Amino acid sequence: MRNVSILGSTGSVGRSSLAVVDAFSDALRVVGLAVGGNLELLAEQIERYRPEVVSVRNAADVEPLRERLRSHRPEIVSGAEGASAVATMSNVDAVIAAIVGAAGIPPVYAALKAGKRVGIANKEVLVAAGDVMTRAAREHGGEILPVDSEHNAVHQALRCGTHAEVQRIILTASGGPFLQRDLATFDDISIDAALAHPTWKMGNKISIDSATMMNKGLEVIEAHHLFSMPADRIDILIHPQSIVHSMVEYVDGSIVAQLSTTDMKFPIQYALLYPERVVAPFARLDLAKIRTLDFLSVDPQRFPAVELAYQACRTGGSMPAVLNAANEVAVERFLAGELPFTGIVEVVGRVLDRHAGAVAPIGSVEEALHHDAWARNEARGIDVAVRR
Ligand code: MG
Repeated sequence: MRNVSILGSTGSVGRSSLAVVDAFSDALRVVGLAVGGNLELLAEQIERYRPEVVSVRNAADVEPLRERLRSHRPEIVSGAEGASAVATMSNVDAVIAAIVGAAGIPPVYAALKAGKRVGIANKEVLVAAGDVMTRAAREHGGEILPVDSEHNAVHQALRCGTHAEVQRIILTASGGPFLQRDLATFDDISIDAALAHPTWKMGNKISIDSATMMNKGLEVIEAHHLFSMPADRIDILIHPQSIVHSMVEYVDGSIVAQLSTTDMKFPIQYALLYPERVVAPFARLDLAKIRTLDFLSVDPQRFPAVELAYQACRTGGSMPAVLNAANEVAVERFLAGELPFTGIVEVVGRVLDRHAGAVAPIGSVEEALHHDAWARNEARGIDVAVRR
């Protein structure tokens, strides 16, 4: 039996994680849950999974949550320390880290320092503080298993050869909803249009990141840290069906790919049960029905976010943390109607320019959060006119 804590249990990945626990209830048990909000759903999850410790982001939510509970009363904690407590409980074997944004950084770090396995779904943790996280894992016996579908695919494909035998990593990208849209109309893209992802059902932040393809740029940085691979050996290939989740090309010219349906339960079960493979009840891929898999290269004019992310990855140090934070704010502002769609990348680019002379190494979570806070502030102050 493996004991699991889920950080972000009411979000999309968190709910899929609980579905994986349901499917493997003789192998997995929930002992801790942490959430930002949605007390109603959290209360249901507590009654059903009976965790020992639960954390809510705001201390003010502790009492209202307690009042909702009937048959099971776990210990309830709050704030960043609360999430870290859930991630480091002595009986936890694996943590799923699915808290959106920089709030996920402290508990993941705490879990790795406590020697836990962490299934990372929150790519921002690796983008903003990748060096700190991989070092914590190395020094304290922690283990990072990627839950992001592309990196999970790479992790699987890398089991076919040694690191020295790898030529390059090929991350696939759906291309999002604007792969075919007339470039001249990009300033008029509405919030609803940007949220309508063609293949994956995801949260708002990641849906917008898929529409700009900043998501793929962040994934290049994530892959760089996870697999110790320089940016120039990580390529992106657009694959609109999202069936091939990523590939590894070896020096002998062989390419190994991982395929499955577009269901996060696959990477989650892999991260929780690795290195075992266990019979899964989830819907299988039927390639005869899909018939065609398409691939095309990325148009840098259509998706300028990708090059920004490559530049940040090559620069290293604090630049990726700044990229990530500026993007998070710019996406929020787009969703609030304060920026046009094209303004997202414009704001991020301008914040990167301002940071260019001040790039510093990141040696701690505090340093990562410092640059994160600086970039957020900058991104809030840059205005790009919205055409109405
Ligand atoms: Mg992904």
